[in-house]
Amino acid sequence: MALKEGARVKDRGKSEAPRPQGGVEAHLLVKDKGLPFNNTKLQSISLWHFLYRLALIGILFFVSPSQAGESTPQGRAITAQRIEWIDVHVHLVGGRMRDYECAAQVALKAMDEADVRTSFVMPPPQPPGHPGLYDYEDFISSLKRYPGRFAFLGGGGTLNTMIQKAAPDHISKHTRRRFEKKANEILRRGAVGFGEITAHHFSLMPGHPYESVPADHPLFLLLADIAAHHGVVIDLHFDVVVEDVAHLPPKLASQANPSQLAANIAGFERLLAHNRKAKIVWAHAGSDMLGHWTAELSRKVLREHPNLFMSLRMGGGVPSNRVLDESGEVRIEWLALFCDFQDRFVIGSDQFFVSPDIQGSGPGTVFGQRAERVREGSKTLLSKLPPDLYQKIGYENTVRLYKLKE
Ligand SMILES: [Zn+2]
Ligand SMILES: [Zn+2]
Repeated sequence: MALKEGARVKDRGKSEAPRPQGGVEAHLLVKDKGLPFNNTKLQSISLWHFLYRLALIGILFFVSPSQAGESTPQGRAITAQRIEWIDVHVHLVGGRMRDYECAAQVALKAMDEADVRTSFVMPPPQPPGHPGLYDYEDFISSLKRYPGRFAFLGGGGTLNTMIQKAAPDHISKHTRRRFEKKANEILRRGAVGFGEITAHHFSLMPGHPYESVPADHPLFLLLADIAAHHGVVIDLHFDVVVEDVAHLPPKLASQANPSQLAANIAGFERLLAHNRKAKIVWAHAGSDMLGHWTAELSRKVLREHPNLFMSLRMGGGVPSNRVLDESGEVRIEWLALFCDFQDRFVIGSDQFFVSPDIQGSGPGTVFGQRAERVREGSKTLLSKLPPDLYQKIGYENTVRLYKLKE
């Protein structure tokens, strides 16, 4: 896939350039007038957080002038440059007509507006027999018309259905061979990884499936070995359940989800430990629907599993676990994570780009209506990061993790 390092920074002239907010540390200087303990909210933060804030403020003074541009008296960085970023997780909705060409054009327009250099397209994680089941074969010819703008992952409509279908304790040799053959074929066709695959997926509306298998299902372990062998990633949708749940939140209880849930994190950790060379991108960090995926949990699993990465989604989920707070600022616990695990985060917006010819009210169309909000959230997040973190999370981590080359 063609990606020019030198092409990632767009100079669009000073007059039309938006102004990155100077990073969170700059924001803190503006909002708190440089005094970390000047309101009641801040008085309640722990000593640990205070030390973090000092460290984050310190980053500002170590940012080189070429990275930060000028600084106003209010501490806001000004730059004439718009920096392009990579979105590692989007979907195209082609409908019954499989019109992925028009969906790709919708995506391109949005990408240009949001300074997205490249988007990684993948089929959603579909269960066996799902209406309109599709995989990468259906859209790659449309993507290839725009070299450098798209990459793809495959398996959401094939490998995922096989995983959901196969009983973990009865995997025949034939099933394993068929699975392995399909996985290898996906990579031969040029995929940068396997996705979107799920071990646990909540239904959020009618027509949106509930799916659940142990994350250490033998076919998951096999996929990890294949991914490790070829040095590619697995994009995993995993609605984590840290402890048994007797009553689901109303939003989940009203859809096709079970009434009770058993903890599933142990299987996930076994998958991560199974093959340390398998890079697993846990999708949708910052927007989990159950509320168990906290920043604290992220810290724990990132520390214990060096082959784990997270893609950030700025859409929905339990408010207290979101990356951005109600006023659009990065929550301190997430910012601390980004600083401590700088190489482990990427942006995966999970936007759905819908062909304009599609009429209907299915999940793809509904998610498509939310795409702009999600996109804006991703841009807001990047604009609030210090320049070096913006570069890493928005671009460099993805280039390294997915081995993007010219
Ligand atoms: Zn997902
Ligand atoms: Zn997705």
